[in-house]
Amino acid sequence: MVATVAGVRIPEDHWIGGDWVASARRFTDLSPLDEQPVAELAAGGAAEVDAAVTAARRAFRDFSRTTREERAELLHAIADEILVRLDHLAAVETVDSGGLLRTHLRVTLPRVAHHFRFFADRLLELHHPDFHLRAHRNHVSWEPAGVCGLITPWHSPLPQATWRIAPALAAGNTVVLKPAEWAPLTAALLCRITAEAGLPDGVLNLVHGTGEQAGAALAAHPGLARLAFTGSAAAGRRVAAAAGATLTPVSLELGGKSPILVFADSDLDQAAAIAVEQFDHAGQLGRTGARLLVQRQVAEEFTTRFLVRANAIRQGDPRDVRTDVGPQIHREHLRRIDGYVSRALAAGARPLLGGSRNARLGGLYFQPTLLADPPPGGEILTEQVLGPVLTLQTFETEAQALSLANNSRHGLTATVFTGSTERARRVSASLVAGTVWVNCHAVRDLRAPYGGARQSGIGRGGGQWSFDFYCEVKNTVFAPDGLLD
Ligand code: NAD
Repeated sequence: MVATVAGVRIPEDHWIGGDWVASARRFTDLSPLDEQPVAELAAGGAAEVDAAVTAARRAFRDFSRTTREERAELLHAIADEILVRLDHLAAVETVDSGGLLRTHLRVTLPRVAHHFRFFADRLLELHHPDFHLRAHRNHVSWEPAGVCGLITPWHSPLPQATWRIAPALAAGNTVVLKPAEWAPLTAALLCRITAEAGLPDGVLNLVHGTGEQAGAALAAHPGLARLAFTGSAAAGRRVAAAAGATLTPVSLELGGKSPILVFADSDLDQAAAIAVEQFDHAGQLGRTGARLLVQRQVAEEFTTRFLVRANAIRQGDPRDVRTDVGPQIHREHLRRIDGYVSRALAAGARPLLGGSRNARLGGLYFQPTLLADPPPGGEILTEQVLGPVLTLQTFETEAQALSLANNSRHGLTATVFTGSTERARRVSASLVAGTVWVNCHAVRDLRAPYGGARQSGIGRGGGQWSFDFYCEVKNTVFAPDGLLD
């Protein structure tokens, strides 16, 4: 079965072993733009997951024997095809996920193509070192591991999926992908693109469905060599438990509650501009810096500058190039956000901006919101809201700033603004986070590691770290005077 979304025809079935495969059950995919159905997707469960893992295992035999050069060429061909179809992919991603069309065109989808190019190039640069111990040669090699199960979230669906798929394929593995049920459409387009680029049947497989059925079945499948999960800590715990039962190595990229620290000696304009950027993608990014921590003597000045910018935000249809902030992904998620904000207001938080749904736009729009004086220890400071909702707290000293920043069970990212190099060094060294940005935000070289400290995840991706996870790293020791050298 096929849906037509934004003028693009999209298969609604699973992609298994190079065929579109239906299921008896289906589920409805709604667009966040108007909550209207856009597709009726096949709803997979244990049987479809098993068929996909079987197809991936079969394909692994040949794909794992391809040379690095062959795989790199394939990944570049996939990147080329993505760029050719950029307009279609961006249009569908916007209708399905609610992200801004202009951001998809300029940033996220070029990034998707770059994921394939980057890991293709890194693969060719993978260094296989030799260590010599009493003339015994220890030869280290990175070898394909097997079938990788990938479970991905609804926000930035294609970048999140390809951040996992590209290194898994580069390493010579085969893949079963379970995309999020709230934004699954571009995953189907990607399968078609990879086939057209020449990826052999069964190397990339897609099973649609809910987390409880398709996701749980994939996480528990004993045929996986690796399991990579991106999503909430609650689901991550269940996925990790399932991986524990089969002793499958697992990578978890989970939620955050990231702080932004603004010291009195910082460039307040820059800090305010980046703080307002936290409303990007309607606040629905794992790395969103949702906790603003501002030194008391500049809090008023910072807030004024923040509000000037925030009040200029245009909220509306994400297909309109003038729009800055679009809708939330789903009514269930909107209700969750509304609940957090209503309870924070009832507990005494002061709304300096927004504080409720956007009554003018209706639908799934929640106003960009800034809450001052959040109740100490309240859920608005501890739980990931994953919406356009920031809190503002003040501090007097560096020690207080660090204590507030690190008072979290999360540790994905942290951002610091200061004019002092010494302070930048001290504070960044003391922050508990996988990534710390100093006087900048959301800039990252893909060769550097990315992942979460504490409950924001397990493991790191990027550059060598991705190959360490997706490969079987082997040490072969050759005796002196062996036949091989
Ligand atoms: P989610 O945990 O609800 O779902 C993520 C994926 O897991 C979906 O495909 C879902 O179907 C599946 N799933 C749900 N329950 C499952 C289960 N029991 N077993 C197996 N699979 C299951 O998360 P979400 O709401 O889609 O995404 C939002 C979360 O993702 C946020 O917490 C966000 O911070 C996090 N995230 C983190 C990063 C990062 O880099 N650390 C990046 C993107 C998203």
